[in-house]
Amino acid sequence: MRRNPSLSKVPMPVQDPIQRAANFDEVALGYTAAMAVEEASRCLDCRHAPCVAGCPVGVKIPDFIRQVAAEDFAAAFDTITQSNSLPAICGRVCPQESQCEARCVRGIKGEPVAIGRLERFVADHHRETVGARPEPVPANGHSVAVIGAGPTGLSCAADLAKLGYAVTIYEAFHTGGGVLVYGIPEFRLPESIVRDEIANLEALGVKLEINMVIGRILTVDELFDDFGYEAVYIGTGAGLPSFMGIEGENLIGVYSANEYLTRSNLMHAYDERYDTPIRRSRRVAVIGGGNVAMDAARTALRLGAGEVTIVYRRSFKEMPARIEEVHHAREEGVRFENLAAPVRILGDDQGQVRGLVCVRMELGEPDASGRRRPVEIAGSDFELDVDTVIIAIGTSPNPLIRNTTAGLETNPRGCIVTAPDGSTSRPGVFAGGDAVTGSATVILAMGAGKTAAASIDAYIRNKAGEA
Ligand code: FAD
Ligand code: SF4
Ligand code: SF4
Repeated sequence: MRRNPSLSKVPMPVQDPIQRAANFDEVALGYTAAMAVEEASRCLDCRHAPCVAGCPVGVKIPDFIRQVAAEDFAAAFDTITQSNSLPAICGRVCPQESQCEARCVRGIKGEPVAIGRLERFVADHHRETVGARPEPVPANGHSVAVIGAGPTGLSCAADLAKLGYAVTIYEAFHTGGGVLVYGIPEFRLPESIVRDEIANLEALGVKLEINMVIGRILTVDELFDDFGYEAVYIGTGAGLPSFMGIEGENLIGVYSANEYLTRSNLMHAYDERYDTPIRRSRRVAVIGGGNVAMDAARTALRLGAGEVTIVYRRSFKEMPARIEEVHHAREEGVRFENLAAPVRILGDDQGQVRGLVCVRMELGEPDASGRRRPVEIAGSDFELDVDTVIIAIGTSPNPLIRNTTAGLETNPRGCIVTAPDGSTSRPGVFAGGDAVTGSATVILAMGAGKTAAASIDAYIRNKAGEA
């Protein structure tokens, strides 16, 4: 097979930065078949395939890339979906640069193979040209409840359904997807892609019960006692936003990133056909340096803000957001006020935000996370003229489930404690994703769902004497 010796990835076509900063259409447009074949030909088909060890769900990367290079896209789709039930999503939002692509040998001299872009191409090609849904497998007579329809719940449900379990997902919102639909904006992950992946699960026989807040409408005990489920998987995420505890946080015009993004994405505030209220800001400050901060800043631009500034207490080097997202944000005109921390939000006499006072920072010795600790420079206060402040400094799990489920051990951060196989302190109850790790990544949440599905299968079979 022909090898492409290029040191660089085949570039991803993207919307023009000026145009895209004014619309919510997807920024990255995806490879054509010719581009995908060209990029796949860069893969060396390494015998020990180090890239696979970098993928939390173990996608057989060299196999699917070889199939793309041979233009057998259907086989490539089958290969990927053996390990990954949401490939169109992972191909778009996985932090590949620190996972599969970080281990690619082509990355030693030049850029790694664009594994994520190829995965996206294969999934999109299947959806656009084949579109066939998976078939349900024969029932095995056992039933499992999954709480939360985010990536971890969806992946656990998919694996259990493929083993013949009757799976019902209970979701608090009016739609499935979790952060994939309420957090990550349309311009990075179109809602239609998430809908399509969920339709695949429903075709497998998974039932989705929406508007079901477990802990309020039903408890975990009732799922066992009244509904007869043999195991419960908790995948409720970490949706409770953290605040800074500084003066002015209760002013009108201060949002948590979660609320701001939920209004825009899930409640379609960006779409004129919906009447969801959201502030049409003039100048916006977004506090934080993660993917959530980038998404909030880029959303604010698209909602018409004249100037959007990210305020981050470290430098670009320490920024936790994906490099690509920071790059896209800068291209679109988001300003960065790095090495700065907010100290006070200023209000006018109507209780509306009128400014943000920050202080300059410098980097000291590394802290427990290994990143250099930001240290305040005395007397360096400065003011940003803003009318909106969006806080994106982290989230933690909502306490509802832990407060209503007896015998469920949690840690001081409110995360559910599990064994490596996903089992909790309560027999028959398993958990994974952000509810266990705190805010992490889509693919880690999916990996946890897969691990738990295998453990739930072993647990139920063992109990039923089928092991
Ligand atoms: P979630 O996605 O939070 O899903 C939990 C689900 O449980 C939700 O649907 C919620 O409504 C439901 N739920 C909660 N409580 C209850 C209850 N009591 N009863 C019933 N249902 C309940 N990761 C990446 O890999 N790449 C990215 O680019 C990226 N960008 C991000 C951008 C934003 C704005 C955010 C917020 C996160 C981002 N992440 C990204 C992180 C990633 O989305 C999460 O790690 C992942 O979604 C966690 O999956 P989960 O299934 O554990 O939780
Ligand atoms: Fe890489 Fe994510 Fe695909 Fe795994 S699922 S191969 S980490 S893009
Ligand atoms: Fe291909 Fe890179 Fe994986 Fe080797 S490490 S098989 S070159 S993707």
